[in-house]
Amino acid sequence: MTGKTTPEPMTRPWRVLAVDDQPANLLLVRRVLAAAGFEVLEARSGVDALTVAKETAPDLILLDMHLPDMHGLEVLRRLRESTWGARLRVVAFSALASTEDQALWRQAGCLGVIEKPITVANFPQEITRWLHGAADSGADLPAREEQTDRLGAMLLAHGLISGEQLASAVAAQAGTGSRLGQVLVQQGAISEDDLAWALSNQLGYPYVFLSADIIDEEAARVLPEAFLRERHILPILKFGQEVTLAMADPTDQGTVDEVLARTGLQVKRALALSSNIEGMLDRLFTRRPGVQQQAPAEVQYLQFHLRQALQEEATEIHFDPGIDGQARVRYRLQGTLVDRPAPPAELHAAILRYLRDLTGADDQPAGRGAGALAVGDVDLQLVTAFLPTATGPAATVTFYSRRSDLPDLARLGLLEERVAPLRRVLRGRGVVLVGCTDPWVRSTLLHALVAPLQGGKVWTLETLPVYRRPTLQQTFLPSGEEVASHVRTVAAAGADLILADDLSPAAAMRAALEAGRSRMLLGGHPQDAVLDLLTQVLDGCGTALVAATLRGILAARPIRLLCPHCRQAGPGTAGTPEPRAFSAPGCEACGLTGFQGQRLLTEVWLPDEDDRMMLRTGRQAAVLERVAAATGTQMRAQGRALVEDGLTAPEELARVLEGDLWTSPTS
Ligand SMILES: [Zn+2]
Repeated sequence: MTGKTTPEPMTRPWRVLAVDDQPANLLLVRRVLAAAGFEVLEARSGVDALTVAKETAPDLILLDMHLPDMHGLEVLRRLRESTWGARLRVVAFSALASTEDQALWRQAGCLGVIEKPITVANFPQEITRWLHGAADSGADLPAREEQTDRLGAMLLAHGLISGEQLASAVAAQAGTGSRLGQVLVQQGAISEDDLAWALSNQLGYPYVFLSADIIDEEAARVLPEAFLRERHILPILKFGQEVTLAMADPTDQGTVDEVLARTGLQVKRALALSSNIEGMLDRLFTRRPGVQQQAPAEVQYLQFHLRQALQEEATEIHFDPGIDGQARVRYRLQGTLVDRPAPPAELHAAILRYLRDLTGADDQPAGRGAGALAVGDVDLQLVTAFLPTATGPAATVTFYSRRSDLPDLARLGLLEERVAPLRRVLRGRGVVLVGCTDPWVRSTLLHALVAPLQGGKVWTLETLPVYRRPTLQQTFLPSGEEVASHVRTVAAAGADLILADDLSPAAAMRAALEAGRSRMLLGGHPQDAVLDLLTQVLDGCGTALVAATLRGILAARPIRLLCPHCRQAGPGTAGTPEPRAFSAPGCEACGLTGFQGQRLLTEVWLPDEDDRMMLRTGRQAAVLERVAAATGTQMRAQGRALVEDGLTAPEELARVLEGDLWTSPTS
């Protein structure tokens, strides 16, 4: 027992809880740490770990991520979600952790990773380093917790700052009440951007860029200005009993607690640059009370068009430069571009500039951006695409509202009995694929399929954040290219069902099918015919893997319905197989497009034991033939029924099915 290697806290020795199911590992940890003056507690399962942690409030938990009863991530989650364990320091304890695993654990709230087997010689120092965040001078416990050395330790561990810089910042910070990150930035040890990167990527806090449009002024004013300025925070959204708080340092637990105490609201943390927060505070609080500041003309114009477009159920707005200097605005209504009142030409450039600011697109002539904007009561998500044209720059705004309700299949004309067989196979292991070119419809189908699966843990990987549902663990990815590595990580993290969209990169599909060996995975893909999709999957993954894991495919194509307000029956042609055709010339109700609403044409295929046997024996062609016979007429039959009922036009069906309608599929 020696007090030399570990700076001693004033009140009692450091208390470390070691969690591992291997008694030999625990014994080694206990011997080494006890000899260095630590108090060591032990747990051999996740349940034990939670009980012991709650009763003893250890200074550090050394957590084996592969426990017999629950995954380490699950233990972490329960700690973080509890009132008593949210602030406990946890270090992952693992052999052979991949970089992906390590990143995932850090995001989930681990300070870092200690690899097994331990190096006996410097193990106590390693533990001390995590306990201290390197340079804490050993103040009493509450003060240490207040300071949350998580940030310092993390920056140090990633080489973003040196030990000297940290020590100097801690010294300068003493007694000032400033946050550590802020001091490091002031001292020039780290840039504001690097600090934000570290906080966001290493600790997993969502990063927000604050602009006037995303701030809910009412939310911002739930706390006094002086407090907001002192703590470098800004409430940006209040929803029910929850407030989203933009924080320059989201590890600042003291401030989170105080906001809860002052407002009674649960705090969701988001990260924003300190300078960005100050700028917004200036904007918000320098306005004279009672004087409503008029929004600039381009802001009003965009708001006007979004409100109109929402009302007309449009999906896109196109801002194009005109040939004679007159700007042009068009809405996409039921697939068709329709002209709408255009702003004065001089506003066109201002609207594009505002859109770039709003969606964070850079100044490149061609580029994309994404952002959010409140239009009335609707929280709209905007995706912008900028393109140079011969007559000047153009922008397309695609928008949708974020939804927390359950997707409604009936609205798309999809009967529950049609998807029921797919729901049944979703309960085991394997892969179910949903093919549809329209990303929103696809997202709706995927969410509708997982909707009734309660109880298990559903982890989603999505590129389009339309549906937000508290019962799911949702991860939004910038592109399908990222899906493959995430599928592997999430499969290892113990999800009961993984929803992954989209799987169009071959690597993503392969990762999905492999995950299907041990998990259930529901995947989205832009290929909207069962036969084509299956061919693609077989080419990319091979017959053996497909036989082992593929459980079903649903392919869907949206078809537009004729506007009920201007629909008229045509004459029909006697003696031909064509039914009496309806058409719609267009009216005010349908924005002159002739269409209103849509249905889905679907194909469903569930491989049976014969199909699987044929695949196992490499008889791919025979299986594809069976699939063609089973699915080839499904969409056609549904489409014909819609035409015969006068709900859609033969031309529309021809467009959706890309060709011949009335001949049999075998001819
Ligand atoms: Zn109409």
